[in-house]
Amino acid sequence: MAQWNMGDDLSEILLRPEDLGPKIKELGAAISRDYQGKDLLLVGVLKGAVIFLSDLLREITIPVSIDFMAVSSYGAATKTSGIVRILKDLDESIEGRHVLVVEDIVDTGLTLHYMLDNLASRRPASVKVCALLDKPDRRQVAVPVDYIGFHIPDRFVVGYGLDYAEKYRNLPYIGVLRPDRI
Ligand code: 5GP
Repeated sequence: MAQWNMGDDLSEILLRPEDLGPKIKELGAAISRDYQGKDLLLVGVLKGAVIFLSDLLREITIPVSIDFMAVSSYGAATKTSGIVRILKDLDESIEGRHVLVVEDIVDTGLTLHYMLDNLASRRPASVKVCALLDKPDRRQVAVPVDYIGFHIPDRFVVGYGLDYAEKYRNLPYIGVLRPDRI
């Protein structure tokens, strides 16, 4: 078993591999059931959702394709406007397809709100959302999240794909970053 040397930067571990695994299995089973017989496309939001998407994908037992989008919010001042820049767009058309957006975490909801509007304009058969983590206390705009892994408190978390300044994505668990490390 590999060792991770970043434990000192965390104040608490919120979700361990043994919490994440069964929940992702459950989500995969629900998605497989709900999308039976449909043309399902998972749209992963780079980079944070990469690890979640790759684990979720392997729990889906029906035919499924994947594509990715990278988005970034404009600076802090304009963040509340919900203006999001597309850094990398989808490779494929989604017209007539059943799209499931796979997000690492929904916080204010602004990124997702923009993405859902943008995707809806491309005439997919449906657009739904699967998020590993939800911080409901922070929501500024209502967004429908159809599949949720875990509700978590308003703390800054890292690991399992989530970063702080591009670090910690490789942790196999989700932990709270110590405030003095931020
Ligand atoms: P929203 O637009 O919902 O406020 O932002 C969602 C994005 O903010 C997530 O995809 C993620 O990149 C980032 N984010 C929000 N909360 C956290 C957190 O606790 N930890 C990390 N690492 N990123 C977060």
